[in-house]
Amino acid sequence: FSGELRGVVATSALELGIDVGELDCCILVGYPGSRISTLQRAGRVGRRVGKAGIIIMVALEDALDQYFVKNPGELFSGEVEKAFVNPENERLLPMHVLCASSELPVREEDSTYFGNKLPNILEGLERKGKVRRTAFGYVSLVSRPHAEVRIRSIEDPFTLVNVDAGKEIGHVDGARVFRECYPGAIYLHMDRAYLVVGLDVGSKKVLLRKTSLKYYTQELVSSDVRITKVLKDFSRGDIRIKHGEVRVTERVVGFRKKPIKGGASREIVPLSLPPYEFESEAIWFELPMEMLRYVESKGMDFHGGIHGSEHALIAMAPLFTLSDRADLGGVSTPYHSQLGGPGIFIYEAYPGGVGIVEKLYNDVFSWVEKTYINIKECACESGCLSCGLLSPKCGNENQPLDKEAAKSILLYILGKEGEGWK
Ligand SMILES: [Zn+2]
Ligand SMILES: [Zn+2]
Repeated sequence: FSGELRGVVATSALELGIDVGELDCCILVGYPGSRISTLQRAGRVGRRVGKAGIIIMVALEDALDQYFVKNPGELFSGEVEKAFVNPENERLLPMHVLCASSELPVREEDSTYFGNKLPNILEGLERKGKVRRTAFGYVSLVSRPHAEVRIRSIEDPFTLVNVDAGKEIGHVDGARVFRECYPGAIYLHMDRAYLVVGLDVGSKKVLLRKTSLKYYTQELVSSDVRITKVLKDFSRGDIRIKHGEVRVTERVVGFRKKPIKGGASREIVPLSLPPYEFESEAIWFELPMEMLRYVESKGMDFHGGIHGSEHALIAMAPLFTLSDRADLGGVSTPYHSQLGGPGIFIYEAYPGGVGIVEKLYNDVFSWVEKTYINIKECACESGCLSCGLLSPKCGNENQPLDKEAAKSILLYILGKEGEGWK
C-alpha cells in the first residue's frame, strides 16, 4: 500500500483488523448486511485530515438494499444492530456446565450464573455418568471435557473427503450439512470449488471432487413446524402473536443451478434426502379464519399472501438483529393443525436458537411495518427479490404468491386494514 496500487478488490476480510491508511473511495457492492459492517467498511476511507472521502453503495436486487435506497435516512440515523447470545441454549449449556464442573464443583445455587435450568442439567449429566454429586457440589468425571466441545458447530460434524486425492480435507457442521452438502451441490472450501458427489449420512462423510463448473447452487428447503411450548404471547384484535419453542423438520427438496456470471438459467434439480429435525425457537402469527375469508372475498389469494409475507419478513429481519436471512426459516399455511387455522411461522435455523426471534418478537410491529413499506414501495407487479416476496431458497418454487394479498395481510396485522372489514 505504498501508493503503487490503484485499488483493491476485497471480501469482508478487509473490514476488520487491517489498517490501510489513505484511501479515498470505497465502493460497496450490495448492502453489507448490517449497519455495523457498513460503517466499518465505509470507515476505511476519508481518514486524511482535510481531505474528504467518498463512499458509494451499489444496491443489489435484495430487500434490504432496496429498503435503504428508498429510505436512506434510516441507514444513517438508525442504531447499529444488537448482538446477542443465548447462554441457555439447551445444546450448549450442558457442555458449558460440564466444563465448569471440571474446574470447580458446581452447586445448584450456581443457577445465578447458569440459569434456572441448572438443576435439570446437573441431573442429566449425572444420569449419563459425566458428573458425580459430592458434598461440595457436582464434579466432572470426564477429564478435559473442554477438548470435546466444538466451537464452530453445534451438531456432530461431517468429514469432508476429497475422493480423487483420497484424503480428508476438513469438517462441516452436521446442522448445515443437508443445506450445503447435498449431492450435486457446489461447495466452497478453502478457496476452492468442489462438487459434492456423495453424502453418507451413516458414516458422516461428504464426498467431494474438485470442479471448475461455472455455476453455483442454491438449496430449496421445505419445512414443517410443531409448537412444543409457548413462551410469550399477546393479542391485537383477533390476531395472536407468539414466541416459543418448536420442533422443526427441514427437508432439502432440490437445488437450483445459478450461473456465476448471472443470467437466466434456472435449472432445478430435485432431490430426495432424509429430513433434518431439530428443536428451535420461533415467532408466529395466528391469523383468524375471517381474514382468510376477507382476503379471498376481494379476489386475492390468501395462501399466496401469507407465503409472500413469510418470505418478506425473513428478508427484512436483519434490519433488527445481527443476523443473516440464512439464520431463519419459515412456514406459512392456511391451516396448521395446532392452531386450527392459518399461521405464519419464522423460526431460527440452528438447534436451540440464539435469541434472534425473541428480538423480532420485541420489535414485531416495527418489523411488520417496514416489511409492508418495502413491498408497497416496490414497483414490481407480482413480487420480486427486491421486496423480498420472492425467496431464493423457497422449497415450493415461490408458489403460490400474491403481492396484493401480502400487503393486505401485513396491514391487517398492523391493525390498519379497515375498510370493508367484516
Ligand atoms: Zn418487488
Ligand atoms: Zn416459500
